[in-house]
Amino acid sequence: MSETTVMGFHYTLKDKSGTVIDSSVGGQPLVVMLGRGHIVPGLDQALPDLGVGDQKNIVLSPDEAYGPANDELRLKVRKDQFPPDAQLKVGDQFQTQPEPGAPVFTVMKIENDEIFIDGNHPLAGVELHFDIEVTEKRPATEEELAHGHAHAGGSCGHDH
Ligand SMILES: [Zn+2]
Repeated sequence: MSETTVMGFHYTLKDKSGTVIDSSVGGQPLVVMLGRGHIVPGLDQALPDLGVGDQKNIVLSPDEAYGPANDELRLKVRKDQFPPDAQLKVGDQFQTQPEPGAPVFTVMKIENDEIFIDGNHPLAGVELHFDIEVTEKRPATEEELAHGHAHAGGSCGHDH
């Protein structure tokens, strides 16, 4: 039986060209329970090999991260297919189905009566470059295992 590990780490996420997409540096490290799909698959696989204080550059192909971009999720819909009171603007996000895992669509462009929406994750098809510095590595506590997620700083921070 393998033990469930909680790891804390600072990260800077860049794309292939070096543009910073996101970073925890200067704030709180991200603390996650490994192997639960809380982070992209490539990170879930790479992190267990690291120890506290380790710094590593991890490059993930789209398949190891948010998957390839899917053209079938780029749709053009007519404005009258939305509720009349929907005040849509570029950048708005919505789900077309109520399931938690359903794609989130983003409004990319509005032209007259046509709305262009994209259900891909914003990072689909993107190669991810992570600079990781591990700050914490420990077995999950019983409370964390019961909740199914890590508790940064020993507190839950969620309503259950
Ligand atoms: Zn909790």
